[in-house]
Amino acid sequence: MPLPLNGRISRRDLQLRAISLPAPLALLVLHQRSAGLAFAQDSDAESTPSLAPTPTCRDDDDVEETVAQTEGPYFTPNSPERTSLREPRMTGTPLRVTGYVYASGCDPVPGALLDFWHCDDAGNYDNEGYRLRGHQFAGDDGQFTLETIRPGIYPGRTRHIHVKVQAPGGPILTTQLYFPDEPENDRDRIFDSSLVMDIEPTTGENSEVTAFFTFVVDAG
Ligand code: FE
Repeated sequence: MPLPLNGRISRRDLQLRAISLPAPLALLVLHQRSAGLAFAQDSDAESTPSLAPTPTCRDDDDVEETVAQTEGPYFTPNSPERTSLREPRMTGTPLRVTGYVYASGCDPVPGALLDFWHCDDAGNYDNEGYRLRGHQFAGDDGQFTLETIRPGIYPGRTRHIHVKVQAPGGPILTTQLYFPDEPENDRDRIFDSSLVMDIEPTTGENSEVTAFFTFVVDAG
C-alpha cells in the first residue's frame, strides 16, 4: 500500500527508519535518465541496485536540506555509471552505503543523480582515471546503494566520502559523508556531525560494513 508522502520527517528519522528495514529486496530497476546533468555524463552501462521499502513520512518533524560542503581538489567529471566501485585486488574493508534521496517536502526523488568519489584504502585518490569514482541514479522510491570500500585517511582530513547529488532539473548539492567514532572527526575543520552516516554493527573484522544516509535536496 502506498505510504503517505505529504508529511514531514527529519533526516535523522529517515536514517533510523532505513537502518531498521529488512534486507533490501532484490528488484531490478530501470532508471530514469535526467536531462541537463551538470556534472556527470551518461554512459551506456545499466545499473541494477536493490530496493527497500519507502520509509513513512510523519507530520511532526521538519525536513532540513542536507548541508553542502566543499568539493575539494580531487573531483573528476564524467565518472562512469556504476553502483559498485570495487575492483579485483582492491584492498580495504568492503563498504555498502545505502539510503534515499528526498526532496524537502518528503517526496522521494526518483532518478536523482548521485556521483561518489573517495580515496583508496591508503588515502590516495586516482586523479588520472576513475578508480573509486562513479555515478548512479536513484530508484523510483529515491533509494540508492553504493558498493565500495571504506576510504582511508590522508593528512589533514578525517575519513570521508565525497558526493554530488542532483534531483532531475534541480541544483547540484556537493557534500561529504562521514563515519561515526573516528578519532579525527573532532580535529577536522570541515567535518559536520549532520553528515555522519549510521553504521550497522558488523560481525567480523573484515566483513562488509553497511552505512545508511538519507539526502534531502532542493528538487528545483
Ligand atoms: Fe577528500
